[in-house]
Amino acid sequence: MRGRNAVSLAVNPCKMCMPMGSSTAMYGIRGCMTILHGSQGCSTYIRRHMATHYNEPVDIGSSSLTEHGTVMGGEGNLVKGLDNMIRLYGPEAVAVATTCLAETIGEDVPRILRDYASERPGLGVTLIPISSSGYSGTHFEGYFKALRSVVEAVAMDGAPNGRINVVVGPASPADVRFLKSLMKQMGVDAILLPDISDNLDAGHEDEYDRLPRKGTSIDDVKKMAGSSKTIEISTFVPEELSPAAYLKERYGVPFVRLNLPAGLRDADALVSELEGCGGRMTEEIAGQRSRLLDAMVDSHKHNADGRAAVFGEPDFVYAVVRLMTENGITPAISATGSRSKAFTRTVSAEIEGVGSMKAGTKPLVFDDADFLAIEEAIADAGVDVMVGSSDGRRIEDRHGIPLVRAAFPIHDRIGGQRVRMLGYDGCLSLLDRITNSLIAKVETTFRKDLYRRYYQWEDGPASGPDMALGAVGAPDEACRDGNTCVSSGPPSSSAPAGACLKKSLVAAASKSGMLIDTHFGHADDLYIYEVWPGGMRFKEHRSVGSGDGSCCGMGRERLPPGRIAALVRAVEDCDAVLAMRMGESPTMKLGAMGIRCITASGRIEDEVRKMSKEMEDHR
Ligand code: SF4
Repeated sequence: MRGRNAVSLAVNPCKMCMPMGSSTAMYGIRGCMTILHGSQGCSTYIRRHMATHYNEPVDIGSSSLTEHGTVMGGEGNLVKGLDNMIRLYGPEAVAVATTCLAETIGEDVPRILRDYASERPGLGVTLIPISSSGYSGTHFEGYFKALRSVVEAVAMDGAPNGRINVVVGPASPADVRFLKSLMKQMGVDAILLPDISDNLDAGHEDEYDRLPRKGTSIDDVKKMAGSSKTIEISTFVPEELSPAAYLKERYGVPFVRLNLPAGLRDADALVSELEGCGGRMTEEIAGQRSRLLDAMVDSHKHNADGRAAVFGEPDFVYAVVRLMTENGITPAISATGSRSKAFTRTVSAEIEGVGSMKAGTKPLVFDDADFLAIEEAIADAGVDVMVGSSDGRRIEDRHGIPLVRAAFPIHDRIGGQRVRMLGYDGCLSLLDRITNSLIAKVETTFRKDLYRRYYQWEDGPASGPDMALGAVGAPDEACRDGNTCVSSGPPSSSAPAGACLKKSLVAAASKSGMLIDTHFGHADDLYIYEVWPGGMRFKEHRSVGSGDGSCCGMGRERLPPGRIAALVRAVEDCDAVLAMRMGESPTMKLGAMGIRCITASGRIEDEVRKMSKEMEDHR
């Protein structure tokens, strides 16, 4: 599936632009200001997004290129902007991030900054050029481009210092604060790059200080070359943007890459890595782990039927998908706006790992996504909950699917800076939010769903406004009269099979849960689907005990007593059965009950979808 619609047009792209990511990362460097080299609107747009998400004032400069600068070159504007910023703010570092306009006209920012510094001996300000045209990537790549530029621009001190580096991918200030506190608890002396925790989630001050006074100091960045190891918390950071890869290549600092620690496995991996760096497990951390395990057990019964859509930055989506697969939620749609084949490969492999446990519409994973494609996929796949940024709110409104706001940007709620998902307790907090959304969805919709399923027909109730259980009869009775129709809808002897009903039930005999790969008589497992014209949905799995040594009922093999009867009982409410082969005896029994017997051997979903298509064609 393509991540966007068929024409060269993104409708509500599922991403933010690159300099937004760069500006966010630079807010984690102490005493650092950012100038965006380009038109003024870029800076306004980015400040507005950051200010409403983090609920903090955000200062970002702009070189304010006009028509003249665009045609004749913007160096003059940039130099003037640097002069003003250094005079007004007194920063320790200034990052100059390019925008679409500056990159398109080919501004050589590294050269401009070199000249600027050499013409001002004793400047005492670290200048950091960042190439971040909005069209060449997303917020995610912009974030890492900035971090890579920081370690490349700062004059490093390679003297061994006994510390470790921790490079943090995009995370909320509260989660970064958690990482700092985890390392402190474990007694690990780490240099965190970047540390946005206090600058983008500051306490109240009587007077506003325009300069970010907290965060990773330039002195600490210098020392990263002398650390004993780098832990880079990101799955999908491209090699050429990775600060850890640069420190390894240039200064020989070994590194390890970890996923965002948002589930049990990944939180364990981080703790174990810190232990390997000399950290010690504490009772408090063990208690948090134990409470998470307990919460997973408590919530599993609510999550087991849940189908979710996750969208956002690639690391975020992968972390949430892993949290879901640990907790029995099916990630039906996983989408990122970044272009990343590694993302589709890795997320698909994670979901595939649980594919045999849960059948249903095939989970979709796509990169380079826009919200139009995500919405279409969600409408098709039957999703109960969405997890992502507040940009999914229109889908929430239109489809009534609850949205757990857990990723940047969150504009329509307060507290984006305090969202937690990392570590045992952060993961528990996100899991609770997802589970509660699933519970709320069930609680608020189950009456309507039951009414639709059993009593509301395609063209409205047959007996008019008074339609009720008494008027229509019990669902089974009503449907038995209607050819292949069982679960709901008006009986109609003249309609083609399945065409008269809103929904039918289909049973597929399968060993793998993915393919129709067994004879009916051998089937231990039956996968039941609801099918309606143009749609389908996995309903449930039914186990029929062991079929070993039995046969398909062809007449010449011996069957364990009661085997066929048990299978027939298991599908008696269905309209059709799909199996690789079926013997005469079950075929006759099912036929007498009005149940179609269909032999097939492909993927379950493909065959079921064919039936749904047939129903639609017959409408
Ligand atoms: S996409 Fe380009 S023009 Fe638009 S805000 Fe980002 S950098 Fe500026």
